[in-house]
Amino acid sequence: MLRQYELVERVKAYDPDADEAALNRAYVYTVQKHGSQKRASGDPYFSHPIEVAGLMTDLQLDVQTIITALLHDTVEDTLVTVEDIEEHFGKDVARLVDGVTKLSKIEAMPENERAAENLRKFLLAMSEDIRVLLVKLADRLHNMRTLHFIKNPEKRQRIARETMDIYAPLAERVGMYEYMREMQALAFKELEPEAYKTIANRLEELRGRDGGQVDAIALKFKQALAEAGLKVEVTGREKHPFSIWNKMSERHVSFEQVTDIMAFRVITDTEADCYAALGVLHRTWQFLPGRFKDYISTPKTNGYRSLHTSLMYENSMRVEVQVRTHEMHHRNEFGLAAHWAYKQHDKADGQVGWLRDLIEIVDASHDAEELLEHTRMAIYQDRIFAFTPKGALFQLPKGSTAVDFAFAVHTDLGLACVGAKINGRHMPLRTQLSNGDVVEIIKGKGAEPQLSWLGFVVTGKARASIRRAVRLKEREEVAAIGSKLFDTIAARVPARIGKKAIRLALERLGMDEPDDLMYAVGASKITDREVMEALVPGCTANFDEDDEWSKHEREISIRGLTPGVGFELAECCHPVPGDRIVGLRRMGERVEVHTIDCLELASGIDNEWLDLNWGSRSHGAVGRLSVTIYDRPGTLAEMAGVFAQNKINVTSLTQTQLDHPFTTYEIDAEVNDLPHLTRIVSALRASDAVAQADRI
Ligand code: MN
Repeated sequence: MLRQYELVERVKAYDPDADEAALNRAYVYTVQKHGSQKRASGDPYFSHPIEVAGLMTDLQLDVQTIITALLHDTVEDTLVTVEDIEEHFGKDVARLVDGVTKLSKIEAMPENERAAENLRKFLLAMSEDIRVLLVKLADRLHNMRTLHFIKNPEKRQRIARETMDIYAPLAERVGMYEYMREMQALAFKELEPEAYKTIANRLEELRGRDGGQVDAIALKFKQALAEAGLKVEVTGREKHPFSIWNKMSERHVSFEQVTDIMAFRVITDTEADCYAALGVLHRTWQFLPGRFKDYISTPKTNGYRSLHTSLMYENSMRVEVQVRTHEMHHRNEFGLAAHWAYKQHDKADGQVGWLRDLIEIVDASHDAEELLEHTRMAIYQDRIFAFTPKGALFQLPKGSTAVDFAFAVHTDLGLACVGAKINGRHMPLRTQLSNGDVVEIIKGKGAEPQLSWLGFVVTGKARASIRRAVRLKEREEVAAIGSKLFDTIAARVPARIGKKAIRLALERLGMDEPDDLMYAVGASKITDREVMEALVPGCTANFDEDDEWSKHEREISIRGLTPGVGFELAECCHPVPGDRIVGLRRMGERVEVHTIDCLELASGIDNEWLDLNWGSRSHGAVGRLSVTIYDRPGTLAEMAGVFAQNKINVTSLTQTQLDHPFTTYEIDAEVNDLPHLTRIVSALRASDAVAQADRI
């Protein structure tokens, strides 16, 4: 384990201005906070964050990153909070530690192989600052190095699988090949122990037979290059069992057929020397056509630069050779991390964000598909990622709520949702989700989307589905009213009305479904007489226009008017026979008949007022009611039933207020007179469906 002064010295070596006191404080803090916690290896827990910090010094990262590495497990595994860290180490470190803690959440997610690619994207999206990702990768690398200490084989397998599926590809994505290879190697050993053992044994055999071939070949290369006057470093290695295994399975070949199991690196000082060295190698040994690649003049999308070639060594052995400068080498092996570190040291650019680095790489990209991939990552910055309890991942725009999530999972789930648990806690449906939330939608029987949801949902799918459902519900309720009214209409035709009669009526009316007819009746889009004619053509032939049920009972006469003077019942107060009434004669117009307490009378203060009475046989007028019903299925139909039982025709129905769990309607109904109107109000008030009923 790195000692405190060693860690500080390492940082000082590449950053002489580093804040030594802060490093010391962070070192002591992690030791104190993790206290007597132990690793599976039996080591004190704090050895882990300290080693991770050491890995970060290898990448020559800034002090904040080193401190973040030291503190990366304190929030998750000790009582320390992000606020504590902010207090002791400042906002930036707190934000970085919080980022790493959030990334760790993903490890608690249930395994879901199909989601692996999604999880990688999730990690990228979460890594607003590349340093968060770098600490997380180093954390994982160190955990893999110490994986063998974990006793539970299932846990070892799970961690190894996760490393292979998520972290190694992620390391590759950001160009950290060194981390990628080591992660793959360690995970392979755990996941395919038999294959690993076989390949490792064969390599051992080869080594015994040829005796230190790698070193001998490296020396030969170095001599040849030195003779040509080139000052270079040459390193050689056997390929790791995992990459040999990969070749075997990719090319469907046996171990014997995998010939290039050795790889060499020639490291030069200058770019020109790279090409010079390549020339020497190609002249001295036979090279394999088609295997040469120049990634110096045309770097890979992630910034990787090197020359690649394969040589035949002593006519039998194929070896791979990579030629590059020191700087290219460092950048190649540590990718964005190196890129970032170089930038920091330049100090010319100050804080370089993860996105900007990415954009630079994208700019250098020639590959359309990869470009798209990178662009997508940028797009993720304004998206959030949330999970179902089973681990399925959903991407939503920032600001999305639990309702948006429900509709994203499935329209039916959205339609049935009544509540949500976010990260295990009951939360309101309007709650905005954060990255990494686990959202469990609670379904309710007979639940219906609410109009008010439109006030907070952000996704088009949720919006459209809610609108459709609300419209449909309204239509259903109007149709339910229509159905009650229809029964009273059907009772008045001289025939028994069954399904067949209705089907024929629909044909005559040019409608498709019984529901269409009921809706038309409920919404007063069709008169009673039209319905009767459709049911039994000709049955209303002897009716006067006034014979129609809803109108034939109307007969209004007003006493107190000069004979022959026209009048009208005011629309504002809807007087019905029995009300005390007043006439208002405006210049040149018909006399308006108002109830005596109508507020509109105030507008006619300068006009002539007439003291009026209803004629003795007056009956039939439109009364206006306000009815508030409980907002649950069937209540509107029940209300309509009350009107139908009292033989009252509803001429209009308007929803005026939706205040869960109540809905208020304004209803115009044709009544005989005031007692009739009073009776219907009482009948409505007696209904279980009705919360309140009043004449307006
Ligand atoms: Mn850790």
